[in-house]
Amino acid sequence: MVRINTERCLGCGSCVQNCPTGALTLFRKKARSNTNKCIGCEICISACPQGAIEIVILTEIDELRMKMQSLRKRTRQLSQELDRFSQMKDRERKQNL
Ligand code: SF4
Ligand code: SF4
Repeated sequence: MVRINTERCLGCGSCVQNCPTGALTLFRKKARSNTNKCIGCEICISACPQGAIEIVILTEIDELRMKMQSLRKRTRQLSQELDRFSQMKDRERKQNL
């Protein structure tokens, strides 16, 4: 995977345009990487005029940690959606009384 130094990144979009897998996007004028799509080809590193991108080698433990973080985040989102759905159903039930 790659890491973006957001202080150096000027948001020129060169890395985004050159990434063959669509692993990079611009968000609020800064490049952002999606680790699931990155194949580590390093094209973005040569494409960046600011030297703002570096490659990061992940161990299996790092990858598991990232997957767990992502699962926790998704679990929180689903729990919030479930709460909203329950509240909506409660309101509907009260209106139908
Ligand atoms: S290393 Fe390759 S695949 Fe990964 S973000 Fe850079 S250009 Fe895209
Ligand atoms: S090429 Fe470099 S400066 Fe341009 S958006 Fe990507 S990381 Fe930022």
